[in-house]
Amino acid sequence: MTAREISGGKRERKSSPECCQIHLLAHYRHHRHHGDFVFYHRRFHHGDELYDVRPLLKQLNQHFDSNRALINLPRKFKIAVSGCHLHCIRHEIQNVSFVAVPQDDKVVFDLYVGGGLSSGRQFALRLERTCQPDQVLAVSDAVAHLFHDYGNRENRSAARLRHLIQNWGLEKFRDALENQLDFVLGTGQPPQLTALAQRHHYGSFNSHNRKTCGLGIKTSSGKLGAETVSALIKLMEHHHIDFVRLTPTQDLLLLGLKKNSLPEVIEGLHALDLQTAPGPLRLHSTACTGLTYCKFALSETKEFTEQLLKSLEQRFPEWEKPLTIAVSGCPTAAPTLLSPISVWWAAKSKTHPASQSTGMIYT
Ligand code: SF4
Repeated sequence: MTAREISGGKRERKSSPECCQIHLLAHYRHHRHHGDFVFYHRRFHHGDELYDVRPLLKQLNQHFDSNRALINLPRKFKIAVSGCHLHCIRHEIQNVSFVAVPQDDKVVFDLYVGGGLSSGRQFALRLERTCQPDQVLAVSDAVAHLFHDYGNRENRSAARLRHLIQNWGLEKFRDALENQLDFVLGTGQPPQLTALAQRHHYGSFNSHNRKTCGLGIKTSSGKLGAETVSALIKLMEHHHIDFVRLTPTQDLLLLGLKKNSLPEVIEGLHALDLQTAPGPLRLHSTACTGLTYCKFALSETKEFTEQLLKSLEQRFPEWEKPLTIAVSGCPTAAPTLLSPISVWWAAKSKTHPASQSTGMIYT
């Protein structure tokens, strides 16, 4: 997304696949009857990324957009395709994930299935199978058909793909998937996954062409405010910065910076209270949408998180170990499965949930 596009400059309307191409994190959702696809992909011209997944995502979008056989899935269905060398897509909490892995001078995708939050929450299970990039579409389609045909349609709380896998067991699911395919999936060693504490892109990094660079910026739990956005656009225009993209952890990436402008850009960002080297206590903090925009929320989350982090930073100025704190406005606790410290709100009373909610902390 360019600075002009953010600021509301004239922009040609694009269809969904092209829109997905220009986003770092493509979040594309269909609401058709009960069916619901969500696609994620990672690609942002990082010099160390493993694979450009944008063409794959375009294929997936086109396929599912025009596939009437899959318009009535039991519930939401999320596909993640990651070419990121730091594994920041969070494949652990997606329904089907393709994680790029180098293998014999090529890149294959390691498969994970059944991750998810809320009821029956679990980390995605490694299928112990790999596929080639040109097989991503067929595998996604086969998993979607299994979900369509065998997913639970009686009980909404047990209707996600993970529930089907929990009922069947991974082996039966893998056999069923392989029976659907007209090619043989590969096998390989598990990917060397980046530790959660290192899955971020803060600070500067080289782009593919090595002539320009990118800059990862920590936001305040994804909240910027109109004045900050406006000032950020001016800063980008002043330094001829090409693109800004979003990350799965509510942060920003500026792309196409000239290397000699880096110190001045960082100074400008700090003046806007946007950090490029966040401290260990806020390195991985996230907050869900919360009461401001979510009808399920029992509490505001983003201001609360900022106050919590400021308080911790004052009390523990010498703290060194990266900490992951996730705040959620309801017991669904969407961001919290991957976080050693979670804060969420639960209702004390079903009749007056918002006024009777109480904060819960889990470590
Ligand atoms: S975790 Fe709960 S409160 Fe937060 S955005 Fe999701 S549904 Fe809403």
